[in-house]
Amino acid sequence: MAGELRFDGRTVVVTGAGGGLGRAYAIAFAQRGANVVVNDLGVSRAGDGSSSAAADKVVDEIKSFGGKAVANYNSVEDGDKIVETAVKAFGRIDIIINNAGILRDRSFARMTDQDWDLLMTVHVRGSYKVTKAAWPFFKKQKFGRIINTASAAGIYGNYGQANYSAAKLALVSFTRTLAIEGASANIHSNVIAPIAASRMTETVMPPDVLEALKPEFISPLVLYLCHESTQENGSLFELGAGFVAKLRWERSKGAIFKADESFTPGAIAAKWEQVTNFENPDYPNKTTDLNLIELYEQAKNLASN
Ligand code: NAD
Repeated sequence: MAGELRFDGRTVVVTGAGGGLGRAYAIAFAQRGANVVVNDLGVSRAGDGSSSAAADKVVDEIKSFGGKAVANYNSVEDGDKIVETAVKAFGRIDIIINNAGILRDRSFARMTDQDWDLLMTVHVRGSYKVTKAAWPFFKKQKFGRIINTASAAGIYGNYGQANYSAAKLALVSFTRTLAIEGASANIHSNVIAPIAASRMTETVMPPDVLEALKPEFISPLVLYLCHESTQENGSLFELGAGFVAKLRWERSKGAIFKADESFTPGAIAAKWEQVTNFENPDYPNKTTDLNLIELYEQAKNLASN
């Protein structure tokens, strides 16, 4: 068996930890010695209502095996209050798991402004507010670990989820920018696209599939990425049912056009096969991996398109 990674003395905030994936993370961190803030607003799948019961239940579970946990019932929109709970209870904050989420699935034609705004508020603004409140502590102590939660729907798109998928992909780029800005202060940010059985997926998957997709099979990667010994930063992972894989961008070799009056829509059509051909691709990892000025210089020497 692999050596176990411990989190003694570390304080973790897990948002939306009253059920599903968040509950599994909170329990896994507490089992390995962390102090855990179990945040949950206790809303329905669509974000309605509120209750302290969900967070309280998970705190009781953690205490029953001798773990350390406190509950917080704020919305992630009030991220500063959640981080305040961590600092008041445990004197520090080390790890943020931005996990809270809701669904308002509707075809784009039927989607309302409220469906759109609420999804952006909970997923994007919520992750921003919690992280923003923790960031000064991370900078000062030169340690921080952040996990954001994307989704396959965000990466690939999915029918009925224009709001959800847009919010989820926003968290990928949020993560990558935080990774760049935090690297020198030992603040690492990574993002996951999990698949797991929860109230979010129980209506769209058959029972035998759900059995294979336990939330507990997502926790090992989340904890690994948050450990002080882990250097991974700015990465996106897809995982579920025991499968874990990293994703990256792939760019076709592309075509170079002479940038003059011969660069027309017809010139694009003539080289479409080249533009979209993924033989010999690049794997760009940062904005400067495409040097447009250099490509422009190369194009100057071409004959007209
Ligand atoms: P879940 O509904 O079981 O858990 C989400 C929790 O977040 C709930 O307990 C809810 O009360 C809480 N919450 C919602 N809004 C909140 C707010 N404003 N403030 C605080 N808490 C709030 O769902 P889950 O499947 O465990 O999902 C966890 C995360 O994983 C979500 O971000 C979801 O989008 C993402 N995700 C899940 C799957 C999956 O297969 N289950 C797939 C892709 C992404």
